[in-house]
Amino acid sequence: STASPIGNGYAFAVTDCLFCKIAAKEIPAEIVLETGRALAFRDINPQAPTHVLVVPKVHYENAAALAAADDGLADDLLSACHIVAVQEGVSESGYRVVFNTGTGAGQTVFHVHAHVLGGRSLQWPPG
Ligand code: ADP
Repeated sequence: STASPIGNGYAFAVTDCLFCKIAAKEIPAEIVLETGRALAFRDINPQAPTHVLVVPKVHYENAAALAAADDGLADDLLSACHIVAVQEGVSESGYRVVFNTGTGAGQTVFHVHAHVLGGRSLQWPPG
């Protein structure tokens, strides 16, 4: 498929984007929530008892690009994170929502994703 920019996002799956392929159900994932514009699935290498990734179905490189789009999608993504936390039973005990943004912050998959982490005590500051 070909990247086709509409606004700051893309109408179609971006070639060789892992999370576009998961969103398109071309690569399997353990999906825990699907909304109109977002998908949540378990991280393949969990760093906490609850470790879910929440992605928009359309492609944005990172949280900055998503926020710049200003079309409500960032709101949808954040809402989906908190629904996941309730579903996972971590909303009372506490959880963390993290967007690693840029290689310097450890971002390795360049399709924006929120990490929802919980189920254990979380230290501050993160490493
Ligand atoms: P990091 O790898 O440093 O955590 P990111 O913030 O870009 O960087 O997070 C990418 C996340 O995607 C990682 O937590 C990784 O375990 C997860 N991941 C990679 N491939 C898959 C996959 N096929 N299904 C689910 N999660 C995946």
